[in-house]
Amino acid sequence: MRELWIGTNNPKKRVELERLLCPLGISLRTPADLVPPYEPVEDQPTFAGNARQKASLLARLAHGLALADDSGLCVDALGGRPRVRSARYGRSARYGGEGLTDRQRLERLLAELAHVPGPDRTARFTCSLCVCEPDGQVRAAIEDHCEGTLLRAPAGTGGFGYDPIFVPAEFAGDPTKSFACLDAATKDRLSHRGKALRRLLARLPELLRS
Ligand code: IMP
Repeated sequence: MRELWIGTNNPKKRVELERLLCPLGISLRTPADLVPPYEPVEDQPTFAGNARQKASLLARLAHGLALADDSGLCVDALGGRPRVRSARYGRSARYGGEGLTDRQRLERLLAELAHVPGPDRTARFTCSLCVCEPDGQVRAAIEDHCEGTLLRAPAGTGGFGYDPIFVPAEFAGDPTKSFACLDAATKDRLSHRGKALRRLLARLPELLRS
């Protein structure tokens, strides 16, 4: 059975990907020790474009089958922002420049939404997955979503990114059920990443054999 390289430098995202892939019993490799280093650029206008760019770079560097994810939050009241810029939101001189923490980005988003009433605080997470061969051939491309609403203040200590303010639609209106309040199994069952990965898992054995 072939190895699968996992293309993310975000340790929390990697934990989620690994816990969903582990039951397959496949050999997962991470790019930490690659030379030259895996330093993907996320400059595409879509999640799918970035996922493909990341997966093909890793597959080429690692000479193996590679999976990458690009994901983010789309907020209806902000015309869909921060979208593909979710990890870099607020990176401007006005909002403190480079290197905002997850919490600072989340607080910026909350400030922008301060005037938005409850029913209009709808948002969705999107996850795009791409599996590439070293020659750049795309073997699988999958996208899935998780609908929800945004709280007025963070709740919970788990997860990462915007988890403390996102309540999935299944728990609509319950401020104690942000993604950051949920156990790992519940987040995986409902999340954009969990849904997309389950669809990919059905095809992975075939991809890893060929
Ligand atoms: P990227 O895919 O590396 O560009 O980063 C995606 C960014 O979107 C993360 O840094 C988070 O800010 C946000 N994000 C994506 N998925 C999640 C999630 O499951 N929970 C919370 N935030 C997320």
